[in-house]
Amino acid sequence: MQDSGHIRLADLGEFGLIKRIHERFPAPDGVTGIGDDCAVLPQRDGLQTLVSTDMLIEGTHFLRGDISPYQLGWKSAAVNLSDIAAMGGRPTGTFLSLALPASTEAAWVDGFLRGYAEVSERFGAALLGGDTTASPDRICINVAVLGECPSGSARTRSAARPGDLVCVTGTLGDSAAGLRAILAGVERDADVQALIDRHYLPMPRVEEGLRLAAQAGVHAMMDISDGIGSDLEHILEASGVGAEVDPASLPLSAPLQRVCTRQGWDAAELAVCGGEDYELLFTVDPEAEKALDVPHTVIGRILSGRGLRWLGDARSFSGFDHYRSV
Ligand code: ADP
Ligand code: MG
Repeated sequence: MQDSGHIRLADLGEFGLIKRIHERFPAPDGVTGIGDDCAVLPQRDGLQTLVSTDMLIEGTHFLRGDISPYQLGWKSAAVNLSDIAAMGGRPTGTFLSLALPASTEAAWVDGFLRGYAEVSERFGAALLGGDTTASPDRICINVAVLGECPSGSARTRSAARPGDLVCVTGTLGDSAAGLRAILAGVERDADVQALIDRHYLPMPRVEEGLRLAAQAGVHAMMDISDGIGSDLEHILEASGVGAEVDPASLPLSAPLQRVCTRQGWDAAELAVCGGEDYELLFTVDPEAEKALDVPHTVIGRILSGRGLRWLGDARSFSGFDHYRSV
């Protein structure tokens, strides 16, 4: 690859940029990837195809001044891989559409591609195509992701049953606290940095999703992008059920608890209403829950009524909505 020096996209041109991307992302064996009008993928017996897409807009989803190109590349791929994980699928490929100002440095793109490649390769997803265009000022990124799962095994939001336990992987609220720390300019000690890393370098729970989907007792599943307050409502609505959740049972990381104590932030609120955890939220039959081989926390239970009830204190929580200020 040509040394990036101080080359800008205005010098490289659209095709120069695509060539740079193509060199970095060769197609896997048996697949036609970047370079033709379409990617061509083999069809495999007994498997179903999963497809999703997610957009990241400068100023809405990220601030160019703070996030590094590497982190942005990682996050663009990771949030899409997380959607495949949420269905219990295995990611196979992605498509990357970039709208970049002509003043963008080639070195910025190289950093972006490094982050994008690192998380994609970790989970076996090849970059198979995309689109490239100039943008007047802001960076816009759209990623489409492909995945596969055995026919009939995809975990939807509509499969929760009364009596199921409500569970999550990992810890909640770290990413939202990291964002709050960035916006408030909190001094970045090791704890704050750990939270910011979770915001900028989310880890898609692909292996966890695959293992959960291999268990018959795991019913509904989704990834947590807007906070469980909002995301669990989606499962309840799609499944036609209700739930009770105990805020005291929410899994909180040690860095989150320490930073919240120091800053006077409400950790439970961050865990419920903050978004971008990219952990898995799932419901499981109580017998099957005992045998799960995926680390998780039980936070509540599915009920036959409607609505989400918070146990303990009387606070009401809500998630993040792009068109509503909360
Ligand atoms: P078209 O004129 O058909 O839109 P393009 O010139 O945009 O084709 O793209 C040429 C090839 O490069 C296609 O295979 C396309 O998928 C791929 N490509 C374009 N932009 C990107 C990108 N940002 N990332 C990955 N592949 C890309
Ligand atoms: Mg094109």
